[in-house]
Amino acid sequence: MPLRIGLFGGTFDPPHVGHLVTAVNVRHALELDLVILMVANVPWQKIDDRRITDAEHRHAMVAAAVADVPGLAAGRHEIDHGGPSYTADTLATLAQDNPGATLFTIVGDDAAAGFETWERYEEVAERSTLVVVDRPGEPVTLPDQFRWERVEVPRLDVSSTDLRRRFRDGRPADFLITDPVLAVIESFQLYRNAQ
Ligand code: ATP
Ligand code: MG
Repeated sequence: MPLRIGLFGGTFDPPHVGHLVTAVNVRHALELDLVILMVANVPWQKIDDRRITDAEHRHAMVAAAVADVPGLAAGRHEIDHGGPSYTADTLATLAQDNPGATLFTIVGDDAAAGFETWERYEEVAERSTLVVVDRPGEPVTLPDQFRWERVEVPRLDVSSTDLRRRFRDGRPADFLITDPVLAVIESFQLYRNAQ
């Protein structure tokens, strides 16, 4: 049977419950076999803003986050590929590795709003169905030329940016990040000097 695979890309610096709740709910709603949380190697749209945590550490956190969750996986294709991370390339790799698979690209509202700034976004839209999930803020509408749909997930006002601030200020991250991820953060002493 050909697989139904969701590609959920991100920086995951760090991964949090908003990512996990999104992934499991989209998987359920669209009857996906697998949702891959794909760790961006060099998130090219973010590199000017701040120091990004090492990709291997971000991957270790995502791997810990999904370890006990059926149907979720941590992806390292973009890290192994090296260089900037483009979803169009990742979809091509997934299509090659999984002949006949139906691919979905999962994005939050904020990411969907910038879709047309993505490298070769037409190719992304050709290779996959875009799945847009709610994030607090304005819901976006994508042009009809793209195959896209909205999936309702619990709207959680949690972001990696807020979490990095919490680590910096010494405020709790408990229940916003799962315990296995907190253990990885502890073990590599991440976010000690978070920006
Ligand atoms: P940052 O604040 O550093 O940008 P982030 O929390 O937005 O981090 P990203 O790694 O940038 O996390 O996001 C990866 C994907 O997850 C994007 O498509 C984003 O829209 C989505 N996402 C992030 N947080 C949530 C959330 N709370 N609910 C739904 N989707 C989310
Ligand atoms: Mg973001």
